[in-house]
Amino acid sequence: MKIIDLRSDTVTHPTQSMREAMFRAEVGDDVFGDDPTVNSLEKLAAKLTGKEAALFVPSGTMGNLICLLTHCGRGDEAILGDQSHIFVNEAGGISALGGINPHTIRNQPDGTMDLEEIEGAIRADNIHFPRTRLICLENTHNRCYGAPLTPDYMDSVLALARQHNLAVHLDGARIFNAAAALKVPVTNLTRQADSLIFCISKGLAAPVGSLVCGSDEFIRQARRKRKQLGGGMRQAGILAAAGIVALEEMIERLADDHQNARLLGGELANIEGLRVDPERVATNIVYCELASHKLTQEEFLQRIRERGVLVSVTGKNRFRMLSHYGISREDIFNAIDAIREVMNG
Ligand SMILES: *Cc1c(COP(=O)(O)O)cnc(C)c1O
Repeated sequence: MKIIDLRSDTVTHPTQSMREAMFRAEVGDDVFGDDPTVNSLEKLAAKLTGKEAALFVPSGTMGNLICLLTHCGRGDEAILGDQSHIFVNEAGGISALGGINPHTIRNQPDGTMDLEEIEGAIRADNIHFPRTRLICLENTHNRCYGAPLTPDYMDSVLALARQHNLAVHLDGARIFNAAAALKVPVTNLTRQADSLIFCISKGLAAPVGSLVCGSDEFIRQARRKRKQLGGGMRQAGILAAAGIVALEEMIERLADDHQNARLLGGELANIEGLRVDPERVATNIVYCELASHKLTQEEFLQRIRERGVLVSVTGKNRFRMLSHYGISREDIFNAIDAIREVMNG
C-alpha cells in the first residue's frame, strides 16, 4: 500500500536530478566562502528575489532567527502576527536567544494584519517602552490556510514601516507558492522586504535548507549570526546542488500542487461530518475539521492511517493536509476515497 503523506510538504524526497547534481557537486569549505556550489545557489537566490545577496542556512527557523537577530538588539520589539510561524512554531527562539520582545497583532483569516492595528502597536519614543524595530510578514501564511498576501497589501505595510523608520522582514518559507497562486513575478512579493527567507526543503523538494536574502551589508551581518548560531556548514555544496535544481526545475510545478489542494478541499467539503472551507484553499494547504460526533479524533486518524493516509493534527479535531511533489492527482483521489469510506463508516 502506498502511503499518501499529506502531513507536510517537508516530507518530499529529492528528485533524481537533484541526486545526480549532489553526486557531481563541486565543493569547498563554505565557512571560508570556498564552496562554489553554495556560492552559485546564493547568487541564484539573490537574483530570483531581486536582492543583492543571499545566505544558505540549514533551516527556515534558523533563517528567521538570523534575520531577527540582525534587525533587533536585546529589548527591541518586533511586530508580528499572533498566528505567525515565528511566534507560534519556532520555540520562542527570538526571545530565548535574542531577547527580542514579540509584539503580536491578530492575524486576520487571510493572513494579513490590520494596518491600523500595526500602526497602533508601534511604540512612541519613550524610555518606558521597548524600541520597535521591525514588522514581520508571512507569505504564504501557513496557519491561515496557506493564504497568499498580495503585492498591494505588502506595499502598504512597507509604506507604514518607512513612515516610522522600521524594517520589514518576510517569512517567505513558501513565497514561490504565493507567486504561483497570484500569478505575479516573485519579486512583486519580495521588493517590500529588507530581509526575507524562503525554504527549498518544502514543496521545492530539496533535502535541506533555506535562503536568507537581503542587501550586501545585511547578509554580511547575517553571516556572522549564522556562525554564532552554529549554522556555518563546511562542504555544504552537496546540499546546495539540490537547491539549485529546486530553483531551476521545481518552481513551475507548484501550480499543480495548488490544483490538487483545491480538488482535495472541494471534495472533502462534500463529505458529511467534515468541515472544510474550500473557498479558502488558494495554495497547497487544506485545513479540515471533524464535525461529526460519530468518530473521535483518534479513531479518525487511525482509520485513515490504516488506509494509508497521513495528516497532521493542528488542534482539537482540526487537521492540516498539504499537497506536494510526492502527491499525484491519483493519490488525491485515493485519499478522498479513503476519507469518505472512514466517514461513512
Ligand atoms: C516551515 C516554515 C518555516 C521554518 O522552516 P524549517 O526549515 O522547518 O525550520 C518558517 N516559516 C513558515 C511559514 C514555515 O511554514
